[in-house]
Amino acid sequence: MEPLPCRADPDAYFRSGTRPAGARLLCAGCGYLEACAAYGIGDARLAGVWGGLTEGERRALRRRATAA
Ligand code: SF4
Repeated sequence: MEPLPCRADPDAYFRSGTRPAGARLLCAGCGYLEACAAYGIGDARLAGVWGGLTEGERRALRRRATAA
C-alpha cells in the first residue's frame, strides 16, 4: 500500500483551522479513507481533516446520528 499522504505533512491535516481543500484531495485517494473518516467521526476531540471530513462536517454527522 502507498504511504499515507498525511504522513508527509501532518500539520496540513490534523490542526484546527487548517485549510481543508488540499487535504481533502489527497484523502480522496487514500486506501484508509473510510476507516479514517469513521475514526474521526467517533472521536470529537480530533482536530483538522480526517478521512476527507472537516471538524464541522464530522460534527454534523455526529448530530445526525444522535438525532436518528
Ligand atoms: S484518509 Fe486519513 S489516513 Fe488517509 S490521508 Fe486522509 S487523513 Fe491520512
